[in-house]
Amino acid sequence: MTHDIQALDRAHYLHPFSDFKALSEEGSRVIVSAQGVYIVDDQGNRILDAMAGLWCVNLGYGREELVDAATRQLRELPYYNSFFKTTHPPAVRLAEMLCRLAPAHINRVFFTGSGSEANDTVLRMVRRYWALKGRPDKQLVIARENAYHGSTVAGMSLGGMAPMHAQGGPLVPGICHIRQPYWFGESNGQDPEAFGRDCAAALEERILALGEERVAAFIAEPVQGAGGAIIPPESYWPAVKAVLDKYDILLVVDEVICGFGRLGEWFGSMHYGLEPDLMPIAKGLSSGYLPIGGVLVGDRVAETLIEEGGEFFHGFTYSGHPACAAVALKNLELMESEGIIERVRNDLGPYLARRWAELATHPLVGEARSLGLIGALELVDPATGERFDKSLGAGNLCRDICFASGLVMRSVGDTMIISPPLVIAHHEIDELVDKARAALDETARRLANTPTP
Ligand code: PMP
Repeated sequence: MTHDIQALDRAHYLHPFSDFKALSEEGSRVIVSAQGVYIVDDQGNRILDAMAGLWCVNLGYGREELVDAATRQLRELPYYNSFFKTTHPPAVRLAEMLCRLAPAHINRVFFTGSGSEANDTVLRMVRRYWALKGRPDKQLVIARENAYHGSTVAGMSLGGMAPMHAQGGPLVPGICHIRQPYWFGESNGQDPEAFGRDCAAALEERILALGEERVAAFIAEPVQGAGGAIIPPESYWPAVKAVLDKYDILLVVDEVICGFGRLGEWFGSMHYGLEPDLMPIAKGLSSGYLPIGGVLVGDRVAETLIEEGGEFFHGFTYSGHPACAAVALKNLELMESEGIIERVRNDLGPYLARRWAELATHPLVGEARSLGLIGALELVDPATGERFDKSLGAGNLCRDICFASGLVMRSVGDTMIISPPLVIAHHEIDELVDKARAALDETARRLANTPTP
C-alpha cells in the first residue's frame, strides 16, 4: 500500500511548495490518520504534530462535533452561493458570530475559500474603498519583507518572500516592502526596544517618501508566521500604531495564523491592542477541517462600500460555502464553550514559554522565543555562536531528525518553529520539548561530523 501510494504520488501529484525533482527522488511520507495532537503514518508511527497541520488544526484532530456539523449540512444543503440576492443560514450565523468575537468596530465579513483569497480580497477592497472616497490616487500598499500573505499573485506580491518574487514576476504593481521587526536576524545586537522603534520608523519614512496621498494601506501579520515565528519587540506595534494615527492610511492585520487563539486572544490584534480596518482570516477559523477564509471588515470601510458603492465585482464560487461555514461555526462554538482562548492565555502559553525557554541553554540554540502557542528556536554554530553556513542545511537536517523521532517541527532556514494545536496537554508539551532537545542533540552531533565547506 505504501509503495502504491508513493509510486502514484510520484507519478501524478505535484505538491505545493516542493522541489518536484527532489521529492520524486526521495518519495513522500504517507499520513493516514490523526487523533488529538498526533498524526499517524502508514507504518503506524505516531508523530506529535507541533505545527497543527499548517498552523490550522487549532482544536486538534478527531473532533466528532465538526464531522457531524459537516455531515448535517452536507445532507441539508451541500452547496449554494450567495451571489444573486440569496443567502443561507450557516454563512449568516458564522458572520454574526465572527463579528461578535471581533473588536467592536468590526461588524461585517466577506467570505473566501482561503487565506490567499482573503488577501486578494483585501487588495481589491482597499483600492475600491479609496476610489469610492474620491481618492483614486491612494493605491499603494506598504507591506514587509519576509511577510507571508499567500500564494496567489496578489498574495505573494503583498508577501515579502524574495524567492517567491524571484519566480513570480511581474508582481502586482503598487506594493512595496519595508524592513521586518526580526530582532535575532537583523538587529546586529541593537537593544530590542530601540530596534522595534526603528522598524516602525521605517514605516513613517516610507509613507513620507511615497506621499501620504498615494498610500492606501499598511499590511502586516501580528507575529510573522511563515517568515519564522517572528515575535516583534514590545515597542514595535505601539510605535506602528502611533505612526498610523498620524496619517489617513488603512491598517490591515493578517490574522490567518494569529487569529482564533494562537496568541491567547481571539485575534492577534487584540493581544497588541490594534484596531485594524481589515482582518484577513482562514486556517483556525475551521481548525482546517474544511477550507474557508474571509475578511473581517471594520465599519469605516464597510459603511463606505455599502453607502457609496455600486456592485463590488468580486467573489468566489465557494464564498461562504455552507458546509465549510457550518464547520467553522461549530469550531468557534467549541472554542468558546471549552474556554480554549483563556486556557492558551493563562495556562498553556505560560507553560510552553517556561519549558521552551529551557532550550535556550542548548549549545545549538541562539534564541528560544514563544508567545501564546507559537514558538521558535534559532540554530547557531556552538563554536562561533553565529549562523551555520547555509549549505549545511542545519534547519532541514533538524526537521528531518525531528520527523524520524516522532515530532513535526518545521524549519525556515535555520529557524525551527512550532505552532501546536491549542488543545495540547502539559504532558504533550513536555514530550514536545524533550523530543526537540533530543533532535537538537542529534543535529549537533551530525553537524560536528560534517566538514565545514
Ligand atoms: N496569510 C498568512 C499570514 C498565512 O500564514 C497564510 C498561509 N500560511 C496565508 C495568508 C495564505 O493562506 P492560504 O494558504 O489558506 O491561502
